[in-house]
Amino acid sequence: MAGSRDYTRLFDLTGRKAIVTGGSRGIGRALSEALAAQGANVAVVVRSSLDIAEDLVAGFNASGGDSFAIQADVSQPGDVERLAAEVEARWGRADILVNNAGIIHPGPIDDYRLDLWRDTMSVNVEGVLLMSQAIGRLMIRQGSGSIINIGSMSGRIVNWPFRHAAYNVSKAAVHMLTKCLATEWAEHKIRVNAIAPGYILTELTEDVLRDNPEVVRDHWAKGAVMDRIGTVDELAGAVVYLASDASSFTTGEIHTVDGGLTLR
Ligand code: NAP
Repeated sequence: MAGSRDYTRLFDLTGRKAIVTGGSRGIGRALSEALAAQGANVAVVVRSSLDIAEDLVAGFNASGGDSFAIQADVSQPGDVERLAAEVEARWGRADILVNNAGIIHPGPIDDYRLDLWRDTMSVNVEGVLLMSQAIGRLMIRQGSGSIINIGSMSGRIVNWPFRHAAYNVSKAAVHMLTKCLATEWAEHKIRVNAIAPGYILTELTEDVLRDNPEVVRDHWAKGAVMDRIGTVDELAGAVVYLASDASSFTTGEIHTVDGGLTLR
């Protein structure tokens, strides 16, 4: 089939139905905007206030389209089932799922609280599992889909000097879950990949930047061969690539976007 494709539409997502968890701010917002810019309808999932998400989707729908905002806690099975039912009732299908919602509770291991450990796993790992199962059911039925999990460099290395083992373990689990899902669901023509960002400036990281600028300068920026931290915009290309037909032969891949931080 070599040469049979129209390469001008390789990244086109017109009419595709996408769900982005934690899609109203930080990295998730940029990912939602990037998918919408390529023509996808986006269900922006938020845990807390719906207002920002509703403003965002109003912008997406301004020139047509059927994006919507929905409140759900990805760690709660009941919320996830309600969300999947809403997607099915409204769209009847799901083409793209971006499991972006994530939290971090820093702290050293020696006296780390079990409730914080469990909360981290519950959102970062079980949230990915529950969302993949619920939306995956629609994808299995239709025989297509692309799932993109937001992992982290922290799933590959113990980034220092801050201590956040629970987060690191959760992101390593996200990477392995990505590979397991890719393997199990290839027969349903569902591709499952992850993006492993390096340090990206968002609300998750800006407190550290404000309180410990020397750490950011000496460890975060200098750690990357590109000598800087990244912006949310710099993850947009990766999500569009993995969501679109441009990556049709790519599955189980952990796509690193870290300015070369994990190179050395
Ligand atoms: P952020 O600004 O703190 O945003 C986190 C998002 O996750 C928010 O939209 C939040 O929703 C949502 N969320 C948290 N818990 C949730 C739950 N239980 N159910 C539904 N939504 C929930 O974080 P970020 O920096 O954009 O990070 C996004 C993802 O990238 C995370 O998975 C993070 O681990 C990963 N990552 C970030 C960096 C970085 O340097 N920033 C690096 C590597 C990986 P609400 O707004 O409704 O609270």
